[in-house]
Amino acid sequence: MKKLEELVRPNIWSLSPYTSARDEYQGKDAKVFLDANENPYNGPVNRYPDPLQRELKHRIAAIKGVPADSIFFGNGSDEAIDLMYRIFCRPGTDNAVAIEPTYGMYGVCADINDVEYRRVLMDENFQPDADKILAAVDTNTKLVFFCTPNNPSGNNIDHNVIDKVLESFDGIVIVDEAYIDFAGVPSYLSQLADRPNLIVLQTFSKAWGMAGIRLGMAFAQPEIIGIMNKVKYPYNINLLTQKRAMEEVMQFDRVQGWVESILKERTRLMAEFAKLDCCIKVYPSDANFFLARVKDAAATYDYLVNQGIIVRNRSKIALCGNSLRVTIGTVAEDNSLLEALRAYQQP
Ligand SMILES: *Cc1c(COP(=O)(O)O)cnc(C)c1O
Repeated sequence: MKKLEELVRPNIWSLSPYTSARDEYQGKDAKVFLDANENPYNGPVNRYPDPLQRELKHRIAAIKGVPADSIFFGNGSDEAIDLMYRIFCRPGTDNAVAIEPTYGMYGVCADINDVEYRRVLMDENFQPDADKILAAVDTNTKLVFFCTPNNPSGNNIDHNVIDKVLESFDGIVIVDEAYIDFAGVPSYLSQLADRPNLIVLQTFSKAWGMAGIRLGMAFAQPEIIGIMNKVKYPYNINLLTQKRAMEEVMQFDRVQGWVESILKERTRLMAEFAKLDCCIKVYPSDANFFLARVKDAAATYDYLVNQGIIVRNRSKIALCGNSLRVTIGTVAEDNSLLEALRAYQQP
């Protein structure tokens, strides 16, 4: 890996961050707060939240088995993705490489930040080739994105490919594990201590059932986390989100129960979906959704919308012609989908 100083944009490397009142105060037993121009009435939301979310990081560190100073929280993983570009990529000069097809936000954030985005097409089974990825890399490549299990294909990406890129590429490798709880394979978190160029993304939005509170996690060695902390908005995680997440992590065993139900239902729904007249192929899934090739995705999608059932039409995505992406719902929700499609007369 190049030295971090060579990878980070010069203006970010030399940045003096904004210091908020709650950043400076580190003491324990203060009881009168006259430092932040808050209103003394309307507690508890009158107070600024902890800018570094220390209590929550302490809990997540224990659950994930990583040091607290290796954790960053963002307004969804999407904030962490955007920060990667703002920290590492000089607009108009640097580039990022990603597997294709994959999660759309990597490309959108590249466009927003005026960073060239290089898509490396996977094979028909949605597996990438490490040599193709490395061939797309040049001296201005700062980031390589993997997503595993991958969205929208739903499958785990071959760890041998990711490992090879982690070893051979001298920039930052991002492994987005939004769906890792469903994957049945180990997380890259176990490699964090040995890999200074690895950033792992996870989220509260999927298995944890909290998409509404907007809380994403990035894990990396403390030097990278320190840079993310100085670039983020000072109070990027609001008080209500921090409180709600704390309540949830105190009873996080519930997550395992949800995951088990969803995995069981995934098996059933995929098997039933494969029997439908409209279905050509159901792709294997290691996530809480699956991709299916159908005879006419646009017509099937429109029909379902008219029945009040919304799936995702991914037909315009590379390798996903005539494909729908279906999230695993409750048994009742999935039965509504199946009943509607059993009654569907292909036009
Ligand atoms: C859903 C999803 C996320 C989660 O984004 P949040 O901003 O944390 O809600 C991240 N990556 C991928 C690939 C996803 O599908």
